[in-house]
Parts: sequence; C-alpha cells; structure tokens
Amino acid sequence: MPMLLSIGTVFGKRRNSSGGGVFKCPEDDKPLDYASLYPDADIQSEIMTSIIRCTYQKEGCRWMDKLQNLPSHLQVCRFDSVPCPNQCSTQLTRANLDDHLEYLCPKRRVVCDFCLQEFSGEYMDQTHAGNCQKEILWCENKCGAKLERRFHSNHMRNECHKRTVQCQFCGKDFLQETLQTHQYRCPRFPISCPNRCDPTKIPREEVEIHVQELCPSATVDCPFRDAGCRHKCPRYSLDNHLEDSVKTHLTLTCDLLKQQEEQISQLCSALHTITQTTEGVFIWKISDYKAKYIDAMYKSGASSKELVSPPFYTSRFGYKACLSVFLNGNGAGEGRYISLYIKLLPGDYDNILTWPFSLPVSFTLFDQSPDPGNRASLTESFLPQPGWKHFQKPAKAVESLGFGYPKFVSHDILKTRDYVRDDSLLIKVSVDNSNMPKP
Ligand SMILES: [Zn+2]
Ligand SMILES: [Zn+2]
Ligand SMILES: [Zn+2]
Ligand SMILES: [Zn+2]
Ligand SMILES: [Zn+2]
Ligand SMILES: [Zn+2]
Ligand SMILES: [Zn+2]
Repeated sequence: MPMLLSIGTVFGKRRNSSGGGVFKCPEDDKPLDYASLYPDADIQSEIMTSIIRCTYQKEGCRWMDKLQNLPSHLQVCRFDSVPCPNQCSTQLTRANLDDHLEYLCPKRRVVCDFCLQEFSGEYMDQTHAGNCQKEILWCENKCGAKLERRFHSNHMRNECHKRTVQCQFCGKDFLQETLQTHQYRCPRFPISCPNRCDPTKIPREEVEIHVQELCPSATVDCPFRDAGCRHKCPRYSLDNHLEDSVKTHLTLTCDLLKQQEEQISQLCSALHTITQTTEGVFIWKISDYKAKYIDAMYKSGASSKELVSPPFYTSRFGYKACLSVFLNGNGAGEGRYISLYIKLLPGDYDNILTWPFSLPVSFTLFDQSPDPGNRASLTESFLPQPGWKHFQKPAKAVESLGFGYPKFVSHDILKTRDYVRDDSLLIKVSVDNSNMPKP
C-alpha cells in the first residue's frame, strides 16, 4: 500500500526524491501516483515508536529509544557535531565544546591571571602568554628573587647579587656578591703607599716593589753599609748623605779592603794545608789530556814536562805523598811512554811513623769503558825495599824524583781502549795499610 514517508520532514532533512513529483515504489520500483498517496497515521505511529539507536552510535553514543524521541536527543547528544558558538569556524562535537570554549577557541575571551586584562584566546596564546609584564617569575640567576617580568631586566642589570660584574681594576669577571671579597685581594686594587710618599694610589701588586726600589719616602740603608756606615735615611735624601760622607765612606772602604785581604790570605794558606786523607786509595784525574801532552812534548820547563798531583795522606795519620806523571815520558820512557812515580813528602806525623816506608804500593791506569765487563785497566805493583832511598824519611824541601815506572804505559797502548775518555786520564795509587805499624 502506498504510503508517504515524512520522516525527512520530521528530522528536518529532506529525503532524495526523483524530479517532477513522480515517486517510485520502493518495493517494486513502479511509478506511483502522487495524488493517490495519503498519510497512514497507524503506520506512522508504528514507525515512530520503533526502538532505534542514536545516529552517532558509531562515534560512541549509547542512546537507544523510540524514533520519535531522536530529534530531541540530537539536540543534546554529546556526539552531535555543532559549529563553535563563537563563530571561530571550528566544527566540533558537543562533548568537546566545553573544552573548546574554555581553552581552545581562538575567539574565547580570557582574563590574564597576572595583569587581569581581558584578551581573545588567540591573542593570549600567541602573544600575551609568556610576555605579560605583570607575570611573577623567579630570577633566572637563582638568586632567590621573585618579581614581575617588567622588573627583571633592571634586576639583572643592577640588583641581582648573582649577576656577573667586572672588577674595574683587574678586569676579571665575578659574581656581584663576591666582588667585594675579591677587591680585598685584587692585585690591581689601588692602595696608598704605606710611606704616604704621594697621594696617587698604586696597584696592590706594585706596592712591594715601589717601597723596595722606588718610593722616595722609604727608609733605605746607606750603600756603604757593608763597609760599616750605619746611616739610614729616606731615599730622597740619600744623595746628600753620599756627598757629605765621601771621606768617611772611603776610610770605611779602605778598612774593609784590608780585612778582606787578610781573610783571603788566610783562606789561601788554609787551602794549601788542606791535604786529602785517604784510606790508602787516591785517584787522580788528569783532565785536558791532549793539551797537557802537547805541552809536555813541545814546551820547555819542568812544569810542562811533569804533572804533580795534590798531596794526600796514605791514611788518617799516615805518610804524606803525591803522584808525579810525565805525559811524554822521562828517562828511559821519554818520547814513547807515560812515566808515573810516587813521591813521599814531609808530613805532619813523620816523627811518629816507621821508616823507611815499606807498605806495598800499586799504580792503576783505568780503562774507562762504559761497559764494566769490558774494562782492562793496567796495574803495576811493588814492595819498597829497606835500602831504597826514595822511601827514607823525607827531608824538607828536597826536590827528588819519586819512585815508579819510567815506562808505565806506552803511547801506543794509551791510544787503545778507553784509557783516555772525555780527554781525561784516571790514575789510582793504592797503599796497602793492613800491615802498617800503628803510630
Ligand atoms: Zn546521541
Ligand atoms: Zn570557537
Ligand atoms: Zn597579563
Ligand atoms: Zn637575581
Ligand atoms: Zn680585581
Ligand atoms: Zn711611596
Ligand atoms: Zn753612609
């Protein structure tokens, strides 16, 4: 039976209809005569009372009721899509509307919590938020201050005690709160000369040198202090003193010179009497060998031919002796050998020693090879015999050749190995004290 379905009108939404007022039956698709259509109240109420779900079931609405109640539900359905009442051109579900109006709508009106001015949401979000001059913020230096944004730049520049400031004297950076402490130590901080020589202040680090070397008011010693002048005066008057005291200073200096001369001669004689005490071993280093050898060859005069070692005692209270070397040989060794002798000298204990000297003696020329296993030092030994004149008690100031070896080592052998090293020879004499009668 043909029936006019007017649900579209009820819902406010027109169903599609073919043109010219010609309807087709949905059942058999045959054309219907509009004039013969009529509303069927029974069917309509049957349809309108059938139970349906909300159009927004898929979006999540769980509403279910009679079809006739749908329009009024849709007025309030949280899932129905509505335009923003502020006309911000957003379409949104009713469920999101409150949020939108409160927080998101660019056309909402909002009041800034800090300055209490009213703005559009859009202006608030894009411009005012984060810039409100009355917003209260912590100081970003963490100094503990909390103040409105408009006061911050002045605070950072002029007030914050954690701001960085430059020491005006040394130019280094400090936290403002430590600057004062720094200036108690700052090397460039200007302070007055302790002698008040000048109102101009001097950087702290220069005060010491100023007082020591420059300050005209500093008290200084007379430069002839070491000679005995006890005069002290401010530096500026020193010249006057020097001019006035020429005679005194000369006398003092003269006395000092005399004293020093005396000391020097005492030192010299002390040096002369210092003689090395040995445990029976004395090692003599002859340096500048080459030059001394050439002197011995070509220079005339005993001192070039013969080198004499410093004197030594053969033991603590023993015999006094020295070594004598002829680098270009002597006697039978002349020209081809080094000659080596020991010479007894008059010593302090001669009167209580046993004579003639009869202790075993040996000479050694060291091989100075860096490898101890490869050293072949040369040694010669002898035992003085009672009749040998060189070992009688030595008389004062008698120049005699010692006892030893005119052919101790040949120049040819000396050139081998490391007998000469760093242009030096090392010669040892050992005296065997083990059987020495105790004085
Ligand atoms: Zn709904
Ligand atoms: Zn809106
Ligand atoms: Zn504000
Ligand atoms: Zn601060
Ligand atoms: Zn400083
Ligand atoms: Zn001064
Ligand atoms: Zn003086």
